[in-house]
Parts: sequence; C-alpha cells; structure tokens
Amino acid sequence: MNLEDLNAEICSCTRCPELVANRMTIVPGAGNPEAGIMFVGEAPGRDEDIQGLPFVGQAGKLLDSLLEHAGFNREQVFIANCLKCRPPENRDPLQVELDNCHEYLLAQIALVEPVIIATLGNFGLKTLVTESHTIGQVHGTPVKKSGVLFFPLYHPAAALRNGSLREVLMNDFIKLRKLAAREGIQVG
Ligand code: URA
Repeated sequence: MNLEDLNAEICSCTRCPELVANRMTIVPGAGNPEAGIMFVGEAPGRDEDIQGLPFVGQAGKLLDSLLEHAGFNREQVFIANCLKCRPPENRDPLQVELDNCHEYLLAQIALVEPVIIATLGNFGLKTLVTESHTIGQVHGTPVKKSGVLFFPLYHPAAALRNGSLREVLMNDFIKLRKLAAREGIQVG
C-alpha cells in the first residue's frame, strides 16, 4: 500500500454517519511523502472541507507563517489531521470518530515514517502522545515514544483566539527547527 492507495481508501470511508452526511470533501492530508516532519492537527474546518486540503483557512495561514518563521515550507513536511472529515459547525471530534479515523492516521505515519511528529493542539496530543498531560504542560518538549520523536505544539487556532500564544508558538517552532537539525532532517 502507498499513500495514494491509502488516500483512496480514506476517501471512500463511511464510518461516521454524521460526518458523511455533512461533509463536502474528505481531507486525507497533504505534503511530502518522504517528510522528516509530520504535523498532526485536529480536523478539517470549513475551508479545508471545501478545498479537500489541510490547513488552508485562517489557522492554515498562521501555520504557514510559523513554518516560514522557522525556515520550513509546506513542500518539506507532511500535514494530516486526527479526523479526515469536518465535524458539523466545527464541533469537537467525538471519541468514536477519533477511534474510527485512528487507523488511517497510523497508516499515514507508517508510510511517511517521519522522524518527528509535531502535534497541533489537544487532540493530536491525546490520541498520539499522552492522555495525562495538557498542552500547556508539554508544549515545546520532545517526547520519545515507540521510536518516534513527538513534539507537542499549541494549535494555531488557539493563537488566533488568544494572541499571547502566538509568541509561544513562534518560540516552539524555533525549538522544532533546532530539533530537526539535530536529527539530521534536511530543512531550509
Ligand atoms: N484545523 C485543523 O486542526 N486542521 C485543519 O486542517 C484546519 C484547521
């Protein structure tokens, strides 16, 4: 199985009836299939649901500027979400939806084999790294788990709501850049 086959499988998924009934497109993820860094957000929002691409709305614009600030660009990384379909009205993902979609996220990770997985927000942190810590406690601190380096980050949307988090995110992206360089990931 390659990423194209996996995308086709994701795009025919009907596991979550409420998401299937409300989605316009499915947003499997996008980016470099050989990326050393994978970002994992929460779920598509309105713009992503329209375009079928991750992080193309307001939070995506901020993500782009954070990537640029740290000397990365989208072509170098892979961007996925915990959920591949937009929850109606951008409500939080339900646990059953996260469970239904988890297999796809794990398959993406297995195919891309990133050295670093940077989680964006609480849902990536909880589903991939730890249920017992909050993002406030662990953001910007690498955690090694099952041979992968996880790097928890605040979600860019949190910084759109609370401006003081923008600087925290900027600093954490610089830390991520340094970690990537230490791990021998080609950046910049
Ligand atoms: N927020 C996310 O978590 N993912 C997206 O793709 C867009 C906004």
